[in-house]
Amino acid sequence: MYIVILGAGAMGCLFGGRLAEAGHQVVLVDVWPAHLDAINSHGLMLETVEGDRRIAIPACRAEEVTEPPELLVLFTKSIHTPRALESARHLLGEETWVLTLQNGLGNLEAVEAFVPRRRIVVGTTTWPSDLLGPGRVRSLGDGSTRILAADAQVTPDLARISQTLDRAGLRCAISPEVFAAIWEKLAFNAALNTLTAVTGLPVGGVGGTVDGRALARAIVREVVTVANRKGVGASEATVLATVDEAFRDHEEHLPSMLQDLRAGRKTEIEAISGAVVREAASLGLAVPVTQSLYRLVRIIEQGREAERTSFPGHGKEGSR
Ligand code: NAD
Repeated sequence: MYIVILGAGAMGCLFGGRLAEAGHQVVLVDVWPAHLDAINSHGLMLETVEGDRRIAIPACRAEEVTEPPELLVLFTKSIHTPRALESARHLLGEETWVLTLQNGLGNLEAVEAFVPRRRIVVGTTTWPSDLLGPGRVRSLGDGSTRILAADAQVTPDLARISQTLDRAGLRCAISPEVFAAIWEKLAFNAALNTLTAVTGLPVGGVGGTVDGRALARAIVREVVTVANRKGVGASEATVLATVDEAFRDHEEHLPSMLQDLRAGRKTEIEAISGAVVREAASLGLAVPVTQSLYRLVRIIEQGREAERTSFPGHGKEGSR
């Protein structure tokens, strides 16, 4: 299959690298010059449990790709989706499928501004991945991927996309429960991303305190309540089990929101907690703990932004 990865950071390189190793024609598209140069000069350095290797794979900006792919996998952070898809409009052919596995809410709607719903596939993935530097990605955990066409039609094309990802080792299955899985991941992220971002502690640091565990549980309960009120069958017990597992097994992990704040980048707070707060408001539900954490992360982001404007040269955008 001919596949374009739009947003070739931690996740885009993991998926792109594995798909290229499985024999597919993959192009990595990004806007970070040092990363593109490193991949084109030395290959993509991918570290997984199977070992470290270099994968020869072309990497470039969207305007340098001419042919619309069969599958475009969108892996920018949610805030960068509109700009990325705008730059890739010429790659969105009649027959192109667009897959989003991004975290948070609103990804389907953001893609739908560019692509008809019948060509969009949504889903969620639990594979972890970290960008170590230009051209270098590490994914040492285990994971799986669940997808569904946005119009819920199970077609031979959807089956082929699922098989393609699965045979590349990304453990993919078509799941009618994908929207519940998206909300469950949202509840997990609304709890652990914000609590680690605000405290500056790794996952185990939050989980090692009574207060951290209590706040995480309260956020999960709030988010799942919103989902259930919307008619989405997310399960509080399922999310709490994943949170407890993260507290136990991923003690040293620094979630992306904390990494983004440390590096001076904008976070995905709007697509995660912000989206929950807005959904809750539209249903007349109160989500006080989620809302407080949302505001705290925004205060930190806005404070950093004000510092940057007042003292140019301080707190510049991180490595990217
Ligand atoms: P990342 O920041 O490592 O990668 C995003 C990439 O998009 C960067 O390389 C950036 O340069 C690129 N980009 C930004 N603007 C662009 C544009 N206009 N055109 C093309 N590329 C552009 O982020 P990530 O960790 O790979 O996360 C991507 C998505 O996957 C997020 O929604 C995240 O929440 C989700 N996710 C991440 C993980 C994880 O473990 N990293 C796991 C599951 C889901």
